[in-house]
Amino acid sequence: MEFPVCAVCNKPVDRIEWFDDHSARGRVFRVFCHGKVEEQVLTDRMALHMVRGTEIAFGNAFTAHVKAIEDKGR
Ligand SMILES: [Zn+2]
Repeated sequence: MEFPVCAVCNKPVDRIEWFDDHSARGRVFRVFCHGKVEEQVLTDRMALHMVRGTEIAFGNAFTAHVKAIEDKGR
């Protein structure tokens, strides 16, 4: 599994951890980069769309963070 690219640093994130959260019915991914942590939950419903693919697509990590910065700049 390839590390997602951090939208802030524009390079692969430092580390990823994941575990199955049975109460949330999904897999929780923790992405570590630039001293911050972002959590994303991959639910069963989302996983259904990825059954055929071998890769798990994160999109860019920390995009929400970057968006907040961009919004401030406007
Ligand atoms: Zn980063």
